[in-house]
Formats: sequence, structure tokens, C-alpha cells
Amino acid sequence: MEKQDQLLMKKQNKNLVLEIIKSHSPISRMEIAKITGMSPTTITRIVSELQLQGFVRETELVTSGVGRKAVLLDVCGDVLYTIGVEIDKSVIKIGIVNYTGKMVVWENVSRVQSEKYEETLEKVTNHTNNLIRLNKIPSQKILGMAVGLPGLIDYQNGIVKVSDQLKWNNASLADDLKKRIGYEVIIDNELKMEIVAEYFFGMAKDSQNAVLVGIGSGIGSAIILNGEIYRGESNNAGEIGHTVIDPTGNVCSCGKVGCLATYISEGAIVLSARNVKDIQTVDDVFQAYRDGESWAINIMDRVSTYMALAISNILCLYNPEVIILSGNTIRKFPEIKEAIERKCDLYIWEPLKEKVKILYSNFRDQGVVLGAAIQAQNTLLDLE
Ligand SMILES: [Zn+2]
Repeated sequence: MEKQDQLLMKKQNKNLVLEIIKSHSPISRMEIAKITGMSPTTITRIVSELQLQGFVRETELVTSGVGRKAVLLDVCGDVLYTIGVEIDKSVIKIGIVNYTGKMVVWENVSRVQSEKYEETLEKVTNHTNNLIRLNKIPSQKILGMAVGLPGLIDYQNGIVKVSDQLKWNNASLADDLKKRIGYEVIIDNELKMEIVAEYFFGMAKDSQNAVLVGIGSGIGSAIILNGEIYRGESNNAGEIGHTVIDPTGNVCSCGKVGCLATYISEGAIVLSARNVKDIQTVDDVFQAYRDGESWAINIMDRVSTYMALAISNILCLYNPEVIILSGNTIRKFPEIKEAIERKCDLYIWEPLKEKVKILYSNFRDQGVVLGAAIQAQNTLLDLE
């Protein structure tokens, strides 16, 4: 075997052992040997390397089957940290997550829609540095930062191609942030970050095929197929907001007519409502619904219909085991869940209906931040 191949294999074995300890902990060396098929000697060598590097520690002694004492192994959460960031129209969310995926600190910073690109970057930098300092997180243990944001993102080059919601075009976000913050930075579409959190710790934990649909100020989806994020040719797979559902419908900000987003985004809900009443925000529409005002009931009924249609189309295209609904509209207006489910029952093709589970995210509004931090770990951690 070539020297390079040997090194690579050693590295892969080490990663595998660490992954197994992470997902099966507490676990004994013998059990790891059984799962991996590697020899107990090899496992002992790899584990002591991982202990030296601070990733793994011995926990308790338990009596194994043959009456001998076995030492169990666990991963150390505080061996490293990553920073997850979500940038949205009106808020910047920052969270610091440890190696076991626990969010140790977080902060929400408000953002105004007219805010300049540089201002947002300054905010991210200053608030992140404050979080690190105030919580005494050793900066040498910080692996890097990942940012999730709405729009078309060239994740490989760290460039925001277009973000309608943030009004950013061709921004070298990863580089610009790295210059300010000093850590490695990766970026991606916010729903692609969020589905990572669901896949590792949430509703898609036991699934290899899952779709997350976000509905709020925009509408989009992210897809995991066979355990991998499905990106398409230019990372735009899942942009269902601009699927045309009525060629004679409303004009969309993208310039086309009848896009799904023009029926169910927060902005679309507000626009429809203003035909009837002088309201300020989407919350006013939700309140009017709760007060039993018929116009609001009609608007939200239409939203649930189009959501169910979107879900039904996604199921036909990807046939996932779970479809996870997330986003502000679902969180602020939980009444819509029942209506969506009822209409899904009406629209979803029978053979697909039996298998699929429609679930709701459990991460409240922290899913993007958590997923980004996990993605930073997955991308930036290079075990020597
Ligand atoms: Zn459009």
C-alpha cells in the first residue's frame, strides 16, 4: 500500500471510531471493535490518540458479561466549539455550539431591513466576540463559523449570489466575515443549514430521505436524499417559492407571474389583507383570524391550501419518509397545522400518503443556528 493511502486509511479509521463513540456513547473499546471489525489493539491505539487530543474520555466502570470490569468511553463536549449564525431580514441570531451539539450560549440581535451589508457584518463580528468573551470560551477551541441566510448561495466559494430578502447581490460574505472575525467561515442557504440540525438531532434523525419546508417571510425547502443534502447543479434545489402555481396569478418580486411565494409568504398575506383593512404586519392578520374576522379566515384558508399543494408536489418528486414544517408562520400561527394536515389528506396521492410523516420542528427558532454550527463542525474539523 502507498504511504498516502495508509495515512488516509488511518485518518478514516480514526474518524469512524470517533463517530461511533459520539453516536453510541457510553461505549466500551470491545464494542467498538465489534462494530468496526477492527482489532482490539487498533481500537486501543486510536482511542488513546483521541484521548490525548481531548476528544474522548473514560467515564465509568461497568461489569461486562463475563464479570470483568469494562471502561466506557464518551466524547468531550468542550473539546471544540463552532459558531452558528442566521441572518434574516429583521434579526441576526448567533449561537455557540459545543462538540456534542449543545448550544452553550446564544443571542438575538435586531436588524433593520434597510441595514447596509457592512453594518450587518460589524454586528455579527461584535456580538460574536462579546459572546465569546463574556462566556469565557477559549478562542483557540473555536473551529469556525457558519452562516445560514435566505437566497441563492454559492456555498463552495462563500458568495451570496442573490438574496431578495436581504437585498444583497454577489457578496463575498465568507471572505468578508473571515477578515473581520478571524475564524474560518462557511455559508449556505438557511434551510439547508436547518435541515442539518433536523438530520443529526431532530425530526429526521432516523431518516435517510427528508424534506424541510420553511414558511415565513419567504418560502423554500431543503432536501436530504440518501443521507446527503441534495443541492442540484447550482445549490438551488428546493427553491419552491418560485414554482408557478397560477400563470394568471400575482406578479412576483422575481418578475414572473403566479409564483407560490406570492400566495403564502408573510408579505403576500399582508398584501391580501390590505385589500380589506389597513393592517401593519402579518401578526395583525393572525389576530383578526383569532377574532373570527371572515376575511382573515379566508386568507389563511388559502395559505393552508397552497401549503398542502406544495407538500403534495414535494412528496411526488422526492418521496421522503418525513416532511418537516418550520418557519415563522408555523410558529406564530400554530392553528394552521390542523388545516394543512386536513388538506394534505385531500391532496396527497394515496400510495405516498401511507408512508410519509408530516412533522414540526422542535428547535423553535434556533434550528438554522444549530444546523449551521453542526455543519461548520462537519466541514471544518480535520482530525490529524
Ligand atoms: Zn417568483
